[in-house]
Amino acid sequence: MSYKVLGQRIVILGGGDEALNKVRLVTKTTASVVIISRHIQADFSAFAVEVIERAFVPGDLENAALLFVAEEGPDAELAKAEARARGIPLNVVDVPAECDFYTPSIVDRAPLTVAISTEGDAPVLARLVRARIEAMLSPRIGKIARLAGGLRHAAEKLIHDGPARRRFYEALVTSPEVEAADIRGQGLEAAETLLAAHARAEGQGVVWLIGAGPGSEDLLTLRAQRLLQEADVIVHDQLVPSVVIDMGRRDAERIDVGKAKGHHSFSQAQINTLIVRLARQGKRVARLKSGDPMIFGRAGEEIAALRKAGIAWQIVPGISAALAAAADTATPVTLRKVSSGFIMATAHGADDGELSHWAALAQSGLTLALYMGKSIASDVAARLVAHGAAPSLPVGIVVNAGRADKSTYAGTLGALSAGQVAFSDGPAIIFVGEAVAAGDWADAARLAGQSFRVA
Ligand code: SAH
Repeated sequence: MSYKVLGQRIVILGGGDEALNKVRLVTKTTASVVIISRHIQADFSAFAVEVIERAFVPGDLENAALLFVAEEGPDAELAKAEARARGIPLNVVDVPAECDFYTPSIVDRAPLTVAISTEGDAPVLARLVRARIEAMLSPRIGKIARLAGGLRHAAEKLIHDGPARRRFYEALVTSPEVEAADIRGQGLEAAETLLAAHARAEGQGVVWLIGAGPGSEDLLTLRAQRLLQEADVIVHDQLVPSVVIDMGRRDAERIDVGKAKGHHSFSQAQINTLIVRLARQGKRVARLKSGDPMIFGRAGEEIAALRKAGIAWQIVPGISAALAAAADTATPVTLRKVSSGFIMATAHGADDGELSHWAALAQSGLTLALYMGKSIASDVAARLVAHGAAPSLPVGIVVNAGRADKSTYAGTLGALSAGQVAFSDGPAIIFVGEAVAAGDWADAARLAGQSFRVA
């Protein structure tokens, strides 16, 4: 909604953060803005506004175009009644029923402004969406968009294909390098370098090996999300849930290499061939892997194939399952005087030599995070004990770490080795080590009735 306010006053009642939010919203108008409150707490000094620290008096609404009420109490009630009596449009922060008009939530990246409005009864939702958009758009994106405007002619001359040009602009406004250069005052040079690179690479494909995190969309990195939005094809593993894949562009092709037609999965060699072929077709391929791509993600093989084929690639780290499991259970996997290190290891396929090595490490205090071990958990526990790990060593297991439907199990190595546990469905991380006892496992199911003493 927009009002003509030239030469009039906008009155904001309130001296806190809510009032400050309204100031940000209205200081771009031609009206003069007046803040009135008995308690001025926020810092308004960055704005050209008049700040009056005293009680509200009815005369304050003389020549007022709008009134915002951003505090509660007798002054607020008086001001509302006075505004209604004078027919001055009123906005009461977070009380839609009392508002004559609503203000959209604003993300300001001049020349770009994003206004978010809800039907008036969902300010929380508007704030949430705003926070997400704020996070998505770098603070300098507006400045960089202006840079892009200045390069229009050059871009048209150097990049002939329309979509390729669009990709250049997208890369420009989302590039961390250009942003960093812009901070140093070298934004234009960096933008020109990027343009030259895009001109050279016109029509060539790229593969991004992207860590999807443990399976919640808000545990993706911002970079992962940006690249998912740019990708033409998303090639993902079965462990990546659809909420994460849905962060990609709507019209991107999606290939599930964990569950092919006919229900048998692609071999690693087939995946290597697939991503190379897609990139050779000029496509931008998001190779989306659960957790971090460099940890049990077969990234090594895929990078080797891409190198050999001479295809451009890039790696985007993600939150690995063990870190999500540590966060879920407040388990400090390293802990002063207890655990001086943290081992991410695969339980699957571990031989006696490896198990004996880990048993010694766990015994010396280090924390083990075992991947791919759920179905063989009790067997692995028994073998660790056989190799010298104490049966009393704390064990904590998180199934579906980092997700809303996680479940946890706690006990000792001895209890886990006693017999197969009926875990809930989903991938699991098994922690073994003294530091596990420092975590918060109070809600965890007990392994064979036994549990470690929580520190
Ligand atoms: N690159 C991934 C690991 C892939 S290997 C990462 O960094 O997390 C697959 C194994 O990862 C599973 O067997 C399981 O041990 C673990 N895993 C993946 N996602 C998980 C999750 N959400 N919760 C618990 N374990 C998970």
